Amino acid sequence: MDHQARTQNEKLEMKTTTCYMCACRCGIRVHLRDGEVRYIDGNPEHPLNQGVICAKGSSGIMKQYSPARLTRPLLRKPGAARGDAQFEPVSWDVAFAILEKRLAHLRATDPKQFALFTGRDQMQALTGLFAKQFGTPNYAAHGGFCSANMAAGMIYTIGGSFWEFGGPDLDNAKLFFMIGTAEDHHSNPLKIALSKFKRAGGRFIAINPVRTGYAAIADEWIPIRPGTDGALFMALIRELIEQNAYDRAFVERFTNAGELVDLREASDTFGLFIRDPDAPEVNALFPQNHLWWDTCTNRAVLHHADGAQPALDGRYTLDDGTPVAPSFTLLREQVADCTPEWAAEITGIAAGTIRGIASEMATVAREQRITLPIRWTDSWGKTHDTVEGAPIAFHAMRGLAAHSNGFQTIRAMAVMMSLLGTIDRPGGFRHKAPYPRAAPPSAKPPNDPAMVKPNMPLPTTPLGWPAAPGDLFVHEDGTPARIDKAFSWEYPLAVHGLMHSVITNAWRGDPYPIDTLLIFMANMAWNSSMNTTEVRKMLVDKHKDGEYKIPFLVVCDAFESEMTAFADLILPDTTYLERHDVMSVLDRPISEFDGPVDSVRVPVVPPTGECKPFQEVLIELASRLKFPAFTTADGKRKFRDYPDFIVNFQTAPDSGTGFLIGWRGEDGTKAVIGEPNPKQWDEYAKHNCVYHHRLPESLQYMRNCNGPYMQWAVDNGMRKFGLPIVIQLYSEVMQTFRLAAQGKTKGRQPPDHLRARIARYFDPLPFWYPPLERDVTQLDRYPLAAITQRPMAMYHSWDSQNAWLRQIHGENHLFVNPVTATAQGIEDDGWIYVESPWGKVRCRARYSEAVEPGTVWTWNAIGKAAGAWNLSPNAGESQRGFLLNHLITDELPSDSRAGERLSNSDPITGQAGWYDVRVRIYRAEADAATTLPQFPAMHPLPGSTSVVQRVQAYFAGKGEFAARLRRAAQFGATGDNS
Ligand code: SF4
Repeated sequence: MDHQARTQNEKLEMKTTTCYMCACRCGIRVHLRDGEVRYIDGNPEHPLNQGVICAKGSSGIMKQYSPARLTRPLLRKPGAARGDAQFEPVSWDVAFAILEKRLAHLRATDPKQFALFTGRDQMQALTGLFAKQFGTPNYAAHGGFCSANMAAGMIYTIGGSFWEFGGPDLDNAKLFFMIGTAEDHHSNPLKIALSKFKRAGGRFIAINPVRTGYAAIADEWIPIRPGTDGALFMALIRELIEQNAYDRAFVERFTNAGELVDLREASDTFGLFIRDPDAPEVNALFPQNHLWWDTCTNRAVLHHADGAQPALDGRYTLDDGTPVAPSFTLLREQVADCTPEWAAEITGIAAGTIRGIASEMATVAREQRITLPIRWTDSWGKTHDTVEGAPIAFHAMRGLAAHSNGFQTIRAMAVMMSLLGTIDRPGGFRHKAPYPRAAPPSAKPPNDPAMVKPNMPLPTTPLGWPAAPGDLFVHEDGTPARIDKAFSWEYPLAVHGLMHSVITNAWRGDPYPIDTLLIFMANMAWNSSMNTTEVRKMLVDKHKDGEYKIPFLVVCDAFESEMTAFADLILPDTTYLERHDVMSVLDRPISEFDGPVDSVRVPVVPPTGECKPFQEVLIELASRLKFPAFTTADGKRKFRDYPDFIVNFQTAPDSGTGFLIGWRGEDGTKAVIGEPNPKQWDEYAKHNCVYHHRLPESLQYMRNCNGPYMQWAVDNGMRKFGLPIVIQLYSEVMQTFRLAAQGKTKGRQPPDHLRARIARYFDPLPFWYPPLERDVTQLDRYPLAAITQRPMAMYHSWDSQNAWLRQIHGENHLFVNPVTATAQGIEDDGWIYVESPWGKVRCRARYSEAVEPGTVWTWNAIGKAAGAWNLSPNAGESQRGFLLNHLITDELPSDSRAGERLSNSDPITGQAGWYDVRVRIYRAEADAATTLPQFPAMHPLPGSTSVVQRVQAYFAGKGEFAARLRRAAQFGATGDNS
């Protein structure tokens, strides 16, 4: 066929949807020829990326046609051992029947025997609802392994966080600090913003042990030792206070700096805010009757009383003799010894540099202040003629979060940002709807094991925001009630759960065994676990009677990962090009600073083979199991399918609040709330899959305490209460837990062996402490910190099987400063061992000046197990790639009770401390040729296809691919993706 004829007969189409090659959710245009994806580019009309696409986004085509695709439901063969990956295809009818029978029994007998944990999905509003309706508390997504400390540390302080819920206003900032951030969080949107910022003359300072990615284009790179950022922030707080360089007007009115703290040490209210018994509390969760010391009248008054001027410094005595102090005084005292010299010893940053950073902040705040002529009214009725801000912005992520001191480090950062007055102001940090939320939000986890009842939904969502010991989910004796021990005394504020503890705990039966573990899109046998080698053994370990210790493992994924080998039942998920999805305000939207934005995905190609979206699996199971929210009054199925569910689900009967905010109301004319609109999907599809609701300018800033914004947020389902979100420089929540640990309060108290731990780490003011792992590590033997980053060109483990992206990163080295390497006689590209107290790996070293000498690092997610992801067993990813997780322990010896072990996690939030590991490096054998450890090669699963066939078919085009794929799925051809 000549080219002309071929062109005339071809059907060319272009469809818009939303990318999911990473979590940024850019708008994309997918170009198809005869129904096959041929090309993907950025959608110029999409507000988030404005046409920009990255290497990952344009390589989605190779994800779609990846040989690692699972295409059929698979059941472990009778008699085959788990882990041997011996499966037989089954129909969806069979798969659903197995699940329905098993889950119905668990729900009717003991719902907590079912656990659902998910990876980096974007539908936690649905998965959380499923768990709640099932009645199991054993649910969480990947946040506990990712950046839960970032969310918790900031939300408990300022009611908002980086990433989906807020970010740096680089359009207006003059000085920008990026701290502990690799390339993987915030891709295109941040690249676009940084490019504009630098062109406009902004100064960009990167503080990171490693200079890669964004840090590579920084005006200044300040290397820092991993796990020490909190010390830097404490010193900067001290400098800002000492130099009187903080925004006093902001701090006085919009933080709790002026609120008076009870200083009676013997009292059960020691360290709590004084309440005025004669003033209304208004809301027990967020009392509104705290006091200031008014410097005009020299007496205590209700906070924000007309004309009052709060003291920030000093100690006072109330009329009844109670000694008190403004919380700012306690903050000043807390940082008094945190001199730049003190921080320099810890961080490796020279004291002069730390002073220089503080001075630069002070200068920019003083000399480049932004004033916008926007009138707004605060929560106490005062109208302000302008919105002002110091144009100093920050962005931080996992580099701060993945340490066992991450929560307090991030608290310190949020306090520093607040002292600069940069919260929801131009040039600083800006919230994105539905944030800000209360600090902490009012949603609480279950707090009584008796709430788990057969055939009953939980009364609350499984995850929430504890504010006091009474919110913990523990038994009367204080023992944990969740399988991951979240919301127990071990990890009280585990707002994202502890996905990384589930397999270990279930294997050990601590706090109890479970029956069925459903894992969605999480590679727990590889990237998403610490102590990977042992976790893989736990997955196949049996009781003496031959029963697996975790009896039934269901894995839902689009790809043949390391984890699928361990499944008893595999459910093949779709790709993002094959399904409906929502990026919802109920979950993780793509909101802009000026108002809520949500977006959707619509299928641009049909599902491959027998793949089914996990969303459809959940809707089907919820309907079969007759969950109340999925069943009509007469017992019938309420929602036809996932799109029908998205359109018609409301958070409460007739609330008008649903998953999508655009084109609501029966005729599609309402925004944010309104009745369900049966044509809502069509409208999104017609409008680039995105809806942007801009707020009036007067509602766009200072939203922590913007009275009219609060009213709008309550009226539109974004907030439960319209009370101001006063910034928590001093955290009464933390002090409440500390008082319980000290035995000063009645009610729930921690078990004795955890009292000292709670009392130490639940400091109401931020502080720095060394990561916990250092207490059990011989630092002179393991002198180096080891961390990972994900490359710009890959996201999670999905992309190291992508034929195009593999050409950028097909294997990984350990990056070592030449000074460190040569001291050990290690050559560039030489084979080495990297050893921690917990294990060792063999890999190659690569000299790099872009890492501080006390740190070594590697890319995460490139090293693979042999044969996994349908790669050839001799592919570079397994033979020359390696995974640092083999060196990381998932548990640490308890610091207070011999023999007990605790998760290697933050003692406040349970965030995995996987950046805390210490290592040593030394030359490997002269004849080393592969990385270690190696595992027996996985083999292709039924339904996977040959890459040779696929590539030939792809380039032949004309629908041949689809035909071959069907044939391959039918006959179970083997793959070869080397
Ligand atoms: S930044 Fe992320 S969402 Fe945007 S195009 Fe790249 S991979 Fe896709």
